[in-house]
Amino acid sequence: MLDLILTNARLPQGASDIGIVDGRIAALGHNLGKAREVRDLGGRTVLPGLVEAHIHLDKAGLLCRCGQVDSVQQAVAAVSTLKRDFTVADVHARGARVIEAAISQGTMHMRSHVEVDPRAGLRSLQAVLALRAEYAFALDLQVCAFAQEGLTNDPGTGALLEQALDLGADLLGGCPYTDIDPMAQIDILFDMAARHDVDLDFHLDFDLDPEGSHIRAICDRTIRQGWQGRVNLGHVTKLAVMEDHSLATHAGMLAKANVAVTALPATDLYLNGMDQGHRAPRGVAPLHLLDDVTVAVATNNVMNPFTPYGDCSLLRMANLYANLMHLGAGDFPACLRMITEGPARILRLADYGLSVGHHADLIVLDVASADEGLATIASPIMGFKAGRQSFDRPAARLLRP
Ligand SMILES: [Zn+2]
Repeated sequence: MLDLILTNARLPQGASDIGIVDGRIAALGHNLGKAREVRDLGGRTVLPGLVEAHIHLDKAGLLCRCGQVDSVQQAVAAVSTLKRDFTVADVHARGARVIEAAISQGTMHMRSHVEVDPRAGLRSLQAVLALRAEYAFALDLQVCAFAQEGLTNDPGTGALLEQALDLGADLLGGCPYTDIDPMAQIDILFDMAARHDVDLDFHLDFDLDPEGSHIRAICDRTIRQGWQGRVNLGHVTKLAVMEDHSLATHAGMLAKANVAVTALPATDLYLNGMDQGHRAPRGVAPLHLLDDVTVAVATNNVMNPFTPYGDCSLLRMANLYANLMHLGAGDFPACLRMITEGPARILRLADYGLSVGHHADLIVLDVASADEGLATIASPIMGFKAGRQSFDRPAARLLRP
């Protein structure tokens, strides 16, 4: 006896019913037998729950507290000032809004960076750890203790990162480009990751100068430490301005070291090239040109000085990426993988995707295909987390006179 059968689902592999037992997909096909509950999806498209590889819950929703900025340095400085006054309740309230928006847009797995330093202390972390527990019914949250403002230049931050891991953070995040000694920061974080056996996620190479990349340093250290498959790089916008041969060389290093890259189009487009007027380069890493590299697109910031936009829709991010890279319908499946299978590998999720035996984490889109979902930035109408319905979104109704 199955717990639930979803009939008339449209999957990438064709029309199917989905049988669910104990939170997992037990069968795919037709005439699956008896179930406690049967739901007819009417031919609607089913995707696996979307995976957000990179977001900042702690500094979302700050737009009303600060003015406009002209550079990433100004954005970091603006938040640096504000976060001294962050309370646990404040971070919790802003983070909860973002998580609820993300859930209703189909996200079921999320990695959030949380700034841990002498200004924020461990308050933001405490709030996000509480959110992790409160929303576990609908979303799996990975918490990345993050040194946004440098490590070697910010005494006390290293000890706070270690405390954050002891309190329950899942991994470590760094930002070499804000450190006065980027190479030392990379070494310190790899050492710490080895001591605690955790993954690493760096904000890296966030400018439009093709020189001075830290990709080689990260890839070399990854291989030396045996950390292949455990390191993700966010932004990496230097890739957007490298010559072809240099791009190919760096892609080769990333593939060899199994280091992943996550583009953050909303932020990368907004902050890069601000000083260059209407001929500004696009400033987003060309993920589709990185052969054999695990890649993702993700949200990054929501309504703050880094990115004054955001509805937490990963389908919007994949659509934005496709649009700005001139990618047509033939590339849509690859763009969809950037918000599903790619980030699932980055988060090292076990049993992810629409296969028998895997977790029954599914969203339902009122469209005829996954490609149409991407093209139209469809909002899911319902989702099932571990086989239990975790949200619904009633359709808009026209009220005729
Ligand atoms: Zn970020």
